[in-house]
Amino acid sequence: MSAASTARGAPLVRVLVLGGGYSGIMAANRLAGKVGKRVSITMISPNDSFVERIRLHEVAARHDTETASRWALRDLVHHDVRLRTGTVTRIDPDARVVHAHDSIANEPWSESYDRLVYAVGSGTAVTAVPGSESYAHSITNLAAARDLRARLDDLSDSGSVLIVGGGTTAIELSTELAVARPHLRLRLVTSGLVGPTLSERGRDYLRRSRAFAGIELHENTRVAEVTQEGVVTQDGRTIQADCVVWAASFAVPSLARDSGLDVDRAGRLVVDDTMRSTIDPEILGAGDGCVITSPSNSHLRMACATAAPQGAHAAATIVAEITGRPAPSFRLAYLVIAMSLGPDDGLVQRTRPDDTASDAVITGRLGAWFNELNNRYARQILAWERQRAGAYHWAKPPKRQAERVG
Ligand SMILES: Cc1cc2nc3c(=O)[nH]c(=O)nc-3n(C[C@H](O)[C@H](O)[C@H](O)COP(=O)(O)OP(=O)(O)OC[C@H]3O[C@@H](n4cnc5c(N)ncnc54)[C@H](O)[C@@H]3O)c2cc1C
Repeated sequence: MSAASTARGAPLVRVLVLGGGYSGIMAANRLAGKVGKRVSITMISPNDSFVERIRLHEVAARHDTETASRWALRDLVHHDVRLRTGTVTRIDPDARVVHAHDSIANEPWSESYDRLVYAVGSGTAVTAVPGSESYAHSITNLAAARDLRARLDDLSDSGSVLIVGGGTTAIELSTELAVARPHLRLRLVTSGLVGPTLSERGRDYLRRSRAFAGIELHENTRVAEVTQEGVVTQDGRTIQADCVVWAASFAVPSLARDSGLDVDRAGRLVVDDTMRSTIDPEILGAGDGCVITSPSNSHLRMACATAAPQGAHAAATIVAEITGRPAPSFRLAYLVIAMSLGPDDGLVQRTRPDDTASDAVITGRLGAWFNELNNRYARQILAWERQRAGAYHWAKPPKRQAERVG
């Protein structure tokens, strides 16, 4: 274990949290508040800000949301957690060391751990199809959203934007653009239906909504290539656009795979129900960058609605270990899928615990209000957890439902 020790002489458990997003901050805050005297916690993040990724479509479309998308990590993370700037380039699980590079000081460094929380999130699927890396924009991180905004600013009044994707990110971006930049010609191209996880009622509202009405929709159209002129579809058609945005899928960092850890085909760290890596129990996962392969958690999607509970649960597993109790199993029931349709309209789809859509939807201004509340809540819970560990709770499936999901 570590060289440092607690006042009673027990060794301090050195915990490294990789990533300062929803799951990493939740994990660090819960751990610091619950067993702060028995652990030394270091959070490693490429910079000193927390980015509200769920607002990046606003950052790309508008000019008035820049400050809303940046928060100092120091203000959200528990004061006992040490912050260290760096991008981890390799984990050495045998030596229990991470190797990192500080891009601000431009120097490499290494740090040892006893327990590691892998909370590196997700990014753009840049290599999704040929040409996407070179020609498509994205909104999966702050730099990408700003790049897109600069490109949109350069477009002429008759400029055209083609968004690839039909899920929440693509819908939120296209409707935000429709309101903020009404002169643009907008197209949405998706391999299936737009809003595939919505109910009929939800999808019907979306199609009729004011912001969505002017968007040219190409459903059941798979993009095979992105070019300088637009996209080429799988059936050989060219759809021209001045700007293409890839909003169809997220990819995860290759760090776990590069470090020889157990990953799935997408490169996500494979963890069990306690959030421990299946081949290295000293490493725990949380958020978009990991996957639980047990059937009872097969309904989970990449979302901050998943990342925050998983961060709290990874912390609970470490707490259980330190206090000599069995580690609990992760369970999560979804409640809603919430999305904005421009600043004044929204769609909140009530879901069953297994994330399938029920028939209930909240729409219009009330939907927008609920969605905004939901977005604020996602950040606010991190601050609450900083003040009082254990303050954050999430919905769990009822026992019978959990068995059925499993
Ligand atoms: C436009 C948009 C809208 C969205 N809307 C919603 C929504 O409405 N509801 C919802 O639930 N979800 C939404 N999501 C998804 C949600 O943002 C993610 O699921 C969530 O951010 C995942 O949290 P995380 O903690 O796993 O990762 P993140 O929040 O991405 O944090 C990961 C952190 O790890 C850091 N990191 C990465 N690699 C390294 C490394 N090698 N070393 C050190 N640090 C590293 C990153 O810099 C980042 O700080 C949206 C996403 C986008 C892009």
